Amino acid sequence: MEVTYVCQAASPARPNDDFVLATEDFVIVLDGATAPAGVDSGCVHDVPWLVARLAVNLAAALLTDPTAGLADVLRDGITATMADHGDTCDMENPDSPSSTVVILRRGRDAVDYAVLGDSAILIERGDGELIVAHDDRTAFLDDHSVAGVSRLRNTDEGFWIASNRPEAAARAIVGGVPRAEVKRAALVTDGVTRLVERYGRTWLDLLDRLDKHGPREVLADIRAEELATPPGTYRGKAHDDVTAVFCRF
Ligand SMILES: [Zn+2]
Repeated sequence: MEVTYVCQAASPARPNDDFVLATEDFVIVLDGATAPAGVDSGCVHDVPWLVARLAVNLAAALLTDPTAGLADVLRDGITATMADHGDTCDMENPDSPSSTVVILRRGRDAVDYAVLGDSAILIERGDGELIVAHDDRTAFLDDHSVAGVSRLRNTDEGFWIASNRPEAAARAIVGGVPRAEVKRAALVTDGVTRLVERYGRTWLDLLDRLDKHGPREVLADIRAEELATPPGTYRGKAHDDVTAVFCRF
C-alpha cells in the first residue's frame, strides 16, 4: 500500500490538532477537539498530547494483534489513553479532550476500516463502487451551544467520540472489503469533508483529485475555497486543520 498525505494546522500560529500515523499496512487519522475557553476539561494535557497518545496506543493494539477487530482496537486504544492521563486528570469529566478516529488496515484477506466521529473514509472497489463511511451526526445536533454539545457528547442522542468512554468504540462505523477488490482509498478529517459538504465537490471528485494531483493540491483547493467564502457563512471556524491521506493498493 502506497500512502501519501498532508496534515496542516489551520494557522501557523496554532498547534495542529490533527494527527496521522501510517505504516505499509495501516493508517490512523485523528482530529482532536479541546474544551471551549472557560470550560473545565478536568485535564492538564493539551490536544496534541491526546492525539499523539491515542495514535500510539491504537498502533500498539494493531501491531500486537494484526487480526483484532477494529472496534476492539478502538476500545483498547481509548482505555490505554485514559490510563496515560494518570492521576492528574478527571476521567469522569464529560468535557475531557476528545478526538475523532479513522483507521484503515490492509489485512491478509480484507481491507478493514473504522470511523468514530465526523471524519471520513472513502474506499473504491475494482467495480467502481465507492464506499463512503462518514458519521456526520455532529452537523445535526439539536443544540450546538457549549452546554448542549457537552450534554450530547458520547450519548446516543448526540454523537460518539474517542475520549473517556471506552464503550464509544461499539458505536463506530466498522466494515471490511475483500483485499483484492480495493484499488484506492482516502482518509480525511472534517477540514477536508467541507469540500463536499460546503463547496460542491463529490466524494469521487475528492478521491480523483487526491489520486491525480496529490494531497497538497487538495489542501490548496480547500484554502482557496475558504478564502473565497464570506465570513459568517458557516457555523464554526473559517479555517480548520486539514488532513488528507491517499492510499493506492
Ligand atoms: Zn489529561
